[in-house]
Amino acid sequence: MPVIKTKVVTERPKNRAGTLLSAETAPLLRGDGDISHECGGCGTVLIADVAEGDIISFYVLCPQCRAISLIDNPGAKLL
Ligand SMILES: [Zn+2]
Repeated sequence: MPVIKTKVVTERPKNRAGTLLSAETAPLLRGDGDISHECGGCGTVLIADVAEGDIISFYVLCPQCRAISLIDNPGAKLL
């Protein structure tokens, strides 16, 4: 089960498309694939068990460290 570390952004760029997900608890989304995305700041699993390419251009607010991560690259380096 690959885990992809997300890229933390300092703020949500206004000129980029993308949905901002936030929730009080992680993971924010759970699917039926085999790829998980973890916070680039604290390592909390933000998106669990999705298929490759499912999550593109999503900003995710980490409920643990409050960092905003950008998930936009299905070809990101696998850890
Ligand atoms: Zn975090």
